[in-house]
Amino acid sequence: MDWKHLELELIVLRRDFHKYPESAWTEFRASAIIASYLNRLGYRQLSLGLDNIDPQSVMGRPDEAEIDRQIERAKAQLPESCADGADFIDKMQRYPGVVGVLNTGKDGPVISLRFDIDCVDVNETVLPEHRPNKECFASVNARLDHACGHDAHTAIGLGLAKSLIEKKDELRGEIRLIFQPGEEGCRGAYAMTQKGVVDGSDYFLSLHIGTGVPSGSFALNSHGHLCTTKFDACFTGRAAHAAGAPQEGKNALLAAATAAISLHAIAPHSEGSMRVNVGALSAGTGRNVIADHAVMKAETRGETQDIADYVYKRACEVINGAAAMYETEAEIIKMGSATDADGDAALAERVGAVIRKSDLFGSILNDVPATGSEDATWMMRRVQEQGGQALYMVLGSDITAPHHNGSFDIDENAMINGVRALDIIVDELAK
Ligand SMILES: [Zn+2]
Ligand SMILES: [Zn+2]
Repeated sequence: MDWKHLELELIVLRRDFHKYPESAWTEFRASAIIASYLNRLGYRQLSLGLDNIDPQSVMGRPDEAEIDRQIERAKAQLPESCADGADFIDKMQRYPGVVGVLNTGKDGPVISLRFDIDCVDVNETVLPEHRPNKECFASVNARLDHACGHDAHTAIGLGLAKSLIEKKDELRGEIRLIFQPGEEGCRGAYAMTQKGVVDGSDYFLSLHIGTGVPSGSFALNSHGHLCTTKFDACFTGRAAHAAGAPQEGKNALLAAATAAISLHAIAPHSEGSMRVNVGALSAGTGRNVIADHAVMKAETRGETQDIADYVYKRACEVINGAAAMYETEAEIIKMGSATDADGDAALAERVGAVIRKSDLFGSILNDVPATGSEDATWMMRRVQEQGGQALYMVLGSDITAPHHNGSFDIDENAMINGVRALDIIVDELAK
């Protein structure tokens, strides 16, 4: 493998994904480029879109009109070099995501690797010192920015696809490269897991770039992801004249406001940490009208599934209670979720041994605490329940701002060692 050449190619790939970011469930352009790239490499076992998704388990997907707009934009933004991209998009059946399988034809383990491909719903900074602005690969899509590094994850996944197919004859078993839509808001992994994309895996691996781990470091086992439920609460009341007949109104604005304050007063749990956040609230139509509707975007998290279940159950009770106080109706719609899953210590040890031998990293950390939630945990849990082993790793990269901030940028030079590390790990597991 010509690593030097691949290092440059990763930067080109990453910058292209960075310039055309796509939000959860609309990653049609990225999926088309991934499919086209894998196809060109010789990956003949490609499954696209709905083939990898259980539609009943999908959370937080935009409405069909928005999907239409996004498919159109994706096609318009495809590069000329991706001539088969539009055909691939048509084959996706309105759902993004790609799974490429490398079948070695020899008996051996099934190894699944997951790469998330979506961006964050945030504006990228216009500050001239921000490298994407300086070097002309800043986001051209309004309110969307690869501010979590999933552009790098996608590039790393493609780089790995290239390195693995070059040495296919040396490998055994089956390697599944899973390019997952909708990690942000924990929306995509559950539907892929329910469709069975990781079923039968002996090993499951995923990694994140950055997350507080500096360049030159690699963390073998990131654990303690918080279990979470993301949800919208829609309150429906009745509009009325604010002066002429307020008694005939049912005030959805007050119901939602009462719920917002009370949600933040849910009692903590003695067995571990938990979080509640109401992040957005909108209500009403006009100054002199009793508000007949309100929509709240909120999330709950817990250190364990039990604590997460407790806080989500209490949140539903609070919302329904507040709705009842004002004689309104509340509907709660799940928009995303993640569970907890711990990496397997035995796998971390095995991986650690080969990574240490490689000299790729100046510092190798064993355990690092996770900072948020991660829906790859659904895939990890499924694999572990079926007797396989799973690991969630961190590829160190200096970052210019916190994740999800419009000034976020990564150290692009870190990507190549991410590919090399995964290449070595697959080697070890599939030899
Ligand atoms: Zn993120
Ligand atoms: Zn992320």
